[in-house]
Amino acid sequence: MGMVTHMRFQELTESQKVVAKVIENSIAAQKIGHAYIFSGDYEPYLIETAQLFAKALFCEMPSGAEPCGVCRNCKRMDSGNIVDYMEVEPDGASIKKEQIQQLLSDLSLRGAEGDRQVYVIHQAHKMTTQAANSLLKFFEEPGVGKLAILVTTQPQLLLPTIRSRAQHLVFRPIDRVRLAEKLAEEMQCTNDLARLALTVYPKWDDAREALHNDWFVQAYGLVVQLVEVLTKRPQELLLFAQEKWLGHFKGRNELRVGLELFESWLEEALHFKVRTDYVPELFTKEQSLYTAFVNDRPVHKIVHAIEFVHEAIRRLEANVNPQLTFERLTFDLQKG
Ligand SMILES: [Zn+2]
Repeated sequence: MGMVTHMRFQELTESQKVVAKVIENSIAAQKIGHAYIFSGDYEPYLIETAQLFAKALFCEMPSGAEPCGVCRNCKRMDSGNIVDYMEVEPDGASIKKEQIQQLLSDLSLRGAEGDRQVYVIHQAHKMTTQAANSLLKFFEEPGVGKLAILVTTQPQLLLPTIRSRAQHLVFRPIDRVRLAEKLAEEMQCTNDLARLALTVYPKWDDAREALHNDWFVQAYGLVVQLVEVLTKRPQELLLFAQEKWLGHFKGRNELRVGLELFESWLEEALHFKVRTDYVPELFTKEQSLYTAFVNDRPVHKIVHAIEFVHEAIRRLEANVNPQLTFERLTFDLQKG
């Protein structure tokens, strides 16, 4: 597994006071439960926190809850190379019983290096009932030193029996503006581009990867061009689709990114239309295009455009050919 977090405990204390306090106290009192639920609105942050918690537990010379960062175990965590730390992610749409059984079998085999094992389940609400039941059985007799961290953005979808057997830490909503600033600083790009990347790619690493590539920057430019054509020369939409757009957004996943960027534009435009004092937070350099776009365009037409984009995304998910999907969208947009 490649990772790992470089988050410091100090950062967690600043952004998530309550969560940090609970973790700090349980480490200080050496009272670590056998299962925690981390819930919040931004999964990458929850996972980073889980990794940090694990690192603090494995660290050979932590200072309170802050891992030293230099010992053998910290180095192993940093390189994703520690056998007593495991992560499970959904395989497709769900986490299946076989995955949980594999995990439990790994947990029983390993543990040779120390008396602590930590396993993190991503999108834990996606466990099938059978998977959750396997885990529950394990919770009844977890053995010494085993710690489960169930990460979820939708804790209400976890089985009540799971919820009642784990300590639930609820994270405050993440400040996305700050998050984008952090990403922009790291990637040396504009805040605007970083925010869009975080909007389209829910995972931090995927957003970083996107910002590494010219492809994403060009995608940004094409979305602006799409809006320009739609605003000034709507009769040329199909031509634009064939000559430019479809040459860039080739497959299903690429087109999905393009559509989600376009959707972000439309949503900003809608705010801009209904609230005269609103300053768009995405595509921030395009203020005059926003003005031109919403001028002469009634609210319901912008709402329809958003619905057409949703419809196009649904078609993509239903395996309709990407080219046909986008051409159909240009037709819908022209009709309004
Ligand atoms: Zn250490």
